[in-house]
Amino acid sequence: MKAKELEITGWGRFPRAKSLALRPEKPAAAAAAVRARPAGGLVAHGGGRSYGDAALNDNGHVLLTRRLDRILAFDPERAELVCEPGLTVTELQDFLIPRGFMLPAVPGTGFATIGGAVANDVHGKNHDRHGSIGDHLRWFELLTADGDFRRAGPEDDPALFAATIGGVGLTGVLITLCIGLLPAPSNAVRVTEMRADNLDHFLRLLTQYRERATYSVGWIDVLARGERFGRGILEIAEPAAESVPVRAGRRVRVPLDMPGFILNRWSIGAMNACYFHRIPALGRDRVVPLGQFFHPLDRVLDWNRMYGRAGFHQFQCVVPDAQAETGIRRLLEAVGESRAGSFLAVLKTMGGAGKGYLSFPMRGFTLALDFPARPGVRELMAALEAITLEHGGRIYLAKDSCLSPDGFARMYPALPELRNVLSRVDPQGVFESDLARRLHIRGDQP
Ligand SMILES: Cc1cc2nc3c(=O)[nH]c(=O)nc-3n(C[C@H](O)[C@H](O)[C@H](O)COP(=O)(O)OP(=O)(O)OC[C@H]3O[C@@H](n4cnc5c(N)ncnc54)[C@H](O)[C@@H]3O)c2cc1C
Repeated sequence: MKAKELEITGWGRFPRAKSLALRPEKPAAAAAAVRARPAGGLVAHGGGRSYGDAALNDNGHVLLTRRLDRILAFDPERAELVCEPGLTVTELQDFLIPRGFMLPAVPGTGFATIGGAVANDVHGKNHDRHGSIGDHLRWFELLTADGDFRRAGPEDDPALFAATIGGVGLTGVLITLCIGLLPAPSNAVRVTEMRADNLDHFLRLLTQYRERATYSVGWIDVLARGERFGRGILEIAEPAAESVPVRAGRRVRVPLDMPGFILNRWSIGAMNACYFHRIPALGRDRVVPLGQFFHPLDRVLDWNRMYGRAGFHQFQCVVPDAQAETGIRRLLEAVGESRAGSFLAVLKTMGGAGKGYLSFPMRGFTLALDFPARPGVRELMAALEAITLEHGGRIYLAKDSCLSPDGFARMYPALPELRNVLSRVDPQGVFESDLARRLHIRGDQP
């Protein structure tokens, strides 16, 4: 297989990496690539929807997995699917929903692959009820550094299983995955949208609905001040009994890199006000197709170009329940003081810890924000990291490009267990990434 030189980025388009890319069509070709000991190491790259450097390997190799895209078995009796890693969430949902099933954890973009979803242990809008994708993983086959395939599951090499769920591709390349499914009574959800007047109101609503609703997700207006500080919109949803017609719905594309100054406090403030008032004061109900509910942003292709050529940083943390009220308030205040704006600001609840050593979830409240890569943003990210740590929280590696190695080690206490597994299955460090080097995940940096 011939390697091709590519410049690759994550969804945030920061940082950028020059790598030699391999695109296997069969597991055997992927194994041959690993056995060849690629110079500069290797990391799997799925849909490229992690924001920072998790799927990058500057001056080394990346293994593009999109062509490993076969469904191998579907068993409605056992509610399980066996497939290759390069299928996207949307491709799998399109296969499953007409057959009465769906993925148990669906991230906010359908362009993520299932391999990438497991490697970040992704969560959806139903985390309180159904957990993250790793909670539903029954077993997998992993291509490891020796070029062999190893099978792992909760009883079959449980340490390798836990190291790979959320393991950001460092244990090897997921080649086959067996996933437990949820029933899907129809192709739609009944959604209720309601306004939250301020942060206290928002946290009360989220607390109330995390127990009652199958799905819940909040959008927060980070620029609102005074009595309206922390206002936003909460969406809750339940599976609908009846399907709805799905219109092919035209996708639009952002055709070029927008000048960076277009997204500023004033333009974001105006968009936020419109977005908030879109929902009547008494709320509204509607039935929408699952794809539209799960992936509202996927209708605009290349929306990351809105942030300009320099790209943007995403920040997502989770703060445990007991510290959430002060933690989320302090985070939003720090954003306000920095005078940075974020249109895409999401507040959700999480139900409990994931099964992976580096799984992000913990019981608490999670806040996600986007900031254009501009002078001053790194200082803001450092301040947000410090507040997250002070409140016992952690930052999500799938979204990260700025976390410090020290902050990382304090946020992820099971890191020593991951390192034990890595020293067993990949003692030479064949699997490498920019994220692993930046955060000293292997622990062998000075
Ligand atoms: C608009 C948007 C909304 C999002 N919403 C959510 C959300 O609601 N919840 C959530 O949890 N996440 C969310 N994400 C993040 C996204 O779901 C994760 O980053 C996911 O991992 C992306 O999958 P990917 O295939 O694009 O992976 P990539 O970005 O290509 O890779 C991510 C990691 O997975 C590893 N990897 C990929 N394939 C394999 C494989 N076959 N074997 C081993 N390792 C592999 C890579 O090495 C890398 O470490 C969102 C992202 C975007 C852009």
